[in-house]
Amino acid sequence: MSEIQEFSELIVSHSNADMDSLAAMAAANKLYPAAKLVFPDSPDSSVQEFITLHGGWLHIYQTKEIPLEKVKKLIIVDTREARRLGDLRELTEKQGVEIHVYDHHPTTYRDIVGDYNYIKQAGSTTTILMELIREKNLPIATYEATLFLTGIYVDTGSLSFPTTTPADLNAAAWLLEKGGDLKIVSDILNRPLSPLQRDLLKELILSGSFSQIEGHEILITKASIPYYTSDVSLLTQRILDLEKVHAVFSLIQMQKKIFLIGRSTLSAIDVSEICEEFGGGGHQTAASASLKGENLEKVEEKLIHVLKQKIKPSLMTQNTPQNLQKPILTVTLKIEDWRKVPEEILKLLKKTGEIAAEQNLNLFAAGGFVRDLLLGIKNLDLDLVVEGDSISFSKKLAETFNAHLKIHEPFKTAVLILPDRLRIDLAAARAESYARPAALPEVVGTTLKQDLTRRDFTINAMAVKLNPNDFGKLIDFFGGQRDLQHGMIRVLHNSSFSDDPTRIFRAVRYEQRYGFRMDPHTEKLLKEGVQSKVILKLSSDRIRNEMILLLSEKNPAPAIQRMGKLKILQLLHPSLKLSGTTLQLLEQIPETFTHYTEKLQGEKFDPWIVYALALFSELTSSEIEELLIKYRFTLKASQKVGFMKTNWHLLIHELSHSDPMEPSEISKKMQGISLEGILFFMAYSKNPFLKERLEQYLLKYKNAKLLISGEDLKKIGLKPGPVYREWFEKVKKEQLDGNLQTREQALEFLRRSLS
Ligand code: ATP
Repeated sequence: MSEIQEFSELIVSHSNADMDSLAAMAAANKLYPAAKLVFPDSPDSSVQEFITLHGGWLHIYQTKEIPLEKVKKLIIVDTREARRLGDLRELTEKQGVEIHVYDHHPTTYRDIVGDYNYIKQAGSTTTILMELIREKNLPIATYEATLFLTGIYVDTGSLSFPTTTPADLNAAAWLLEKGGDLKIVSDILNRPLSPLQRDLLKELILSGSFSQIEGHEILITKASIPYYTSDVSLLTQRILDLEKVHAVFSLIQMQKKIFLIGRSTLSAIDVSEICEEFGGGGHQTAASASLKGENLEKVEEKLIHVLKQKIKPSLMTQNTPQNLQKPILTVTLKIEDWRKVPEEILKLLKKTGEIAAEQNLNLFAAGGFVRDLLLGIKNLDLDLVVEGDSISFSKKLAETFNAHLKIHEPFKTAVLILPDRLRIDLAAARAESYARPAALPEVVGTTLKQDLTRRDFTINAMAVKLNPNDFGKLIDFFGGQRDLQHGMIRVLHNSSFSDDPTRIFRAVRYEQRYGFRMDPHTEKLLKEGVQSKVILKLSSDRIRNEMILLLSEKNPAPAIQRMGKLKILQLLHPSLKLSGTTLQLLEQIPETFTHYTEKLQGEKFDPWIVYALALFSELTSSEIEELLIKYRFTLKASQKVGFMKTNWHLLIHELSHSDPMEPSEISKKMQGISLEGILFFMAYSKNPFLKERLEQYLLKYKNAKLLISGEDLKKIGLKPGPVYREWFEKVKKEQLDGNLQTREQALEFLRRSLS
């Protein structure tokens, strides 16, 4: 055979060839036996693996090996896009080269129109070539059948993608008859990931940001890697399988290129149309694009913009009762999930469910209670949501449990306080504009969904059904359980922080409380919120409440530090900057609490104030004053903080001296310092003298009861008046310094002093 003949016919597929490309090339080779197979660039790793393990009989050329001037016929399979042919593209523009095209992709304006075109809708290009091979009665070997079968299985998701057609199943059945080996097919389909792929998959999952667009759950994942790998679409597919969303988009920066891969499960989300906006293409359910010299953030922004334009509404958003959306997850919680719920609360929940069922209502526990239930953390704040008339239901509950009931009619909410002080918050899921039978067994009402949609983060937007028939059924529309598993704080929609800036504080609080982190998109939204100062839209009271909640966390130091890093503290007041000293102090406080809580014998104090004192410890008195006024702290709180406006450093200095000091002197100096202040000093200083004195003061002197009363002074003959106070102080001093131990001694002391 002459060299001219050898390269006169070429079979080619698209760049980064996949298993369908390879199978279709080999199938086309049966129709064009003289043609040579060529890849425009390196194929994906499944193809490489297949060729290594099972494709010794295939000979595939690289473009650079081909004398292009000798090519007379170009057979293109599995694409019609010239720009996906790499350097072979020039052949499509050359005079005298005959073009034949075999493809199953939807037609676009960019398509090459060949001299011969065989275009059919099917799940894979291999399928349409099988029809031609069968028509022509061409024999095929078992190893060929295995390759063709693999091509069909990969492109149709094992015959399960919505793009799968009867022709795919027919072709697959025929190939099985011809000896196609499903074991090899399944090995290729389920190839273990390489360590690099696993790392990349992890990065993609962790970066995931969920959003709802036109009622569909969309996940965007991002990663940036310093090397190039060709197999990224496989990872996007895996994420789609894992995350149970309607579509996944991955943006992966590899050196100077960004790859966009889209996978969808719905016809309303046509990923090929979306990828086309980025110069790429593919199918309705699987598509990709590659971009050069772009910035990942910018591409993501554009992607979100395109998604909003291209994604068609789900029926759900039209709010018709027939189209109630099923939650992502409904599993029934196992007995062990309830282990942290005290027996009596469990009983109470079951009882409330029974009462709801009697009234034909659906009842759910929601929010933080469900979150902590899944985390195995005790939470006694019961947050119930009832679908229907909450008011009459709450009255019935109050009657059954003999509870105090407070109804807030305009918001259809009620609070029940049970005799043992347990509190139940009850909300009505908002009324429907259409009537719906009260107890549809399988369908979860949109009312509950509406209630959950208004919540702050996915982990706080789950519910558990309490009706006896479905008791323990977890309802999770937004992937809350998945986020709990991944330790992610994720908003439900992009305007969450601007709708309610208190969520900025809440995000930080949950993140640090559970050792979670915000997903990158949520963090980005939060930072945008901080930058545009949305927090300042909140009233002083709401900001103060959030600050108190934050400082009331068990260990608020990491949350405060995070607030500093996110530049939220500075927004609240420019003086609130965190130094290393302040941070250390904040971190020291929990230990101080542990040390003293028992010794205090139940004496109550506000832990948040001790943290506030630490946070204020480097501020000037006028800055503290400003903060107290600006955020309208209560008089009680302001008094407890008040000593900070005096020279408390000097006080600490004096109390740290090694010179002996009488207890009465210590007491005098400590006058006006709150219990919170004392605990703050304890955390602040390591000086042993100070510690000893404070401890003595705290445990012995502070609450020492005076040995005498006004009655005693009267009996001795003193006229009531300011002088009484002076005598009390004199006695107290002697008492504290150990000179008076009993009432008798105190009276004797008075008599002696007055005579
Ligand atoms: P914590 O343990 O801090 O009390 P929680 O989740 O119980 O956590 P609450 O403030 O009692 O927090 O709120 C109960 C539920 O109400 C939350 O789980 C959340 O679903 C919802 N929620 C509270 N505040 C908001 C908010 N600002 N925006 C949206 N949803 C909120």
